[in-house]
Amino acid sequence: MSAIYRGRFAPSPTGPLHFGSLVAAVGSYLDARAQGGEWLVRMEDVDTPRKVPGAAEDILHTLELFGFAWDGPVLYQSARLEAYRSELERLCRNGLAYGCACSRKEIADSANRPAIDGGLAYPGTCRNGLPADRTARAWRLRVSTEPVGFDDRLQGHVEQQLERDVGDFVLLRADGLFAYQLAVTVDDEFQGITDIVRGADLLASTPRQIWLQRCLGYATPRYAHLPVAANAAGEKLSKQTLAPALDKSQAAAELVRALAFLGQAVPAELSRATVNDVWAWAAENWSFDRVPRQRAISLS
Ligand code: GLU
Repeated sequence: MSAIYRGRFAPSPTGPLHFGSLVAAVGSYLDARAQGGEWLVRMEDVDTPRKVPGAAEDILHTLELFGFAWDGPVLYQSARLEAYRSELERLCRNGLAYGCACSRKEIADSANRPAIDGGLAYPGTCRNGLPADRTARAWRLRVSTEPVGFDDRLQGHVEQQLERDVGDFVLLRADGLFAYQLAVTVDDEFQGITDIVRGADLLASTPRQIWLQRCLGYATPRYAHLPVAANAAGEKLSKQTLAPALDKSQAAAELVRALAFLGQAVPAELSRATVNDVWAWAAENWSFDRVPRQRAISLS
């Protein structure tokens, strides 16, 4: 057990919490509590076009109703733009980030390698400077051919060669918004996060975040990527796959489902008990070792 543990749950306010996000909340919360650690909540609201009015309040209300108690105030990424800007400037000054003039179409025409999580690996067109007649649209981080790996507590050793698998990736988008990869990395450091427990849908992002940590001189936290809930077609449950919102009138039953999904031997009758009873059971019985070491589990 570590001397200091600080975990977090970092939802994006793009809609109500669904079962997949509840699993991430339960897993990160119980891992933190079992290790006597703190658990912080961060609202990842930098992607303003995807933000749904009222969703942040609804998510916090749902967490409260489900009996989660977080430490300290909620951090809103929309209030952190200055910090992202100054870290981006530092990367630019150190020659680690650069302006890129490429449009989507130019990248599609010149790239010839698929990226690890869809899209195309950026071929590095603007790496050595922009031609005089072009201006930067986006800002990218220079990556290397050196493998970036880590030992995930659940998924084992994960490694990427970022140059090949992703390419120099975007930190500040052409629409002027900071990219998730930069915001999450700067905030995990800012909040002193030691342990990241989240869904395995983010496993492919982790080497990018570790590379950014190295470029910025940050510590690397421990990682545990929980299995994600998938539908019968094997797609991750999300707003896009029309995952149903949680039933707020059935908080105990939803928590019991999440615990069972995480491999816990939870008695079915707890579904009819109170939320407090479920948390009392979890405080006594939570076992990280029982969490399935899988990237996805189909619900049906
Ligand atoms: N905001 C991200 C999401 O909702 C999660 C970020 C993270 O846990 O690193 O998918």
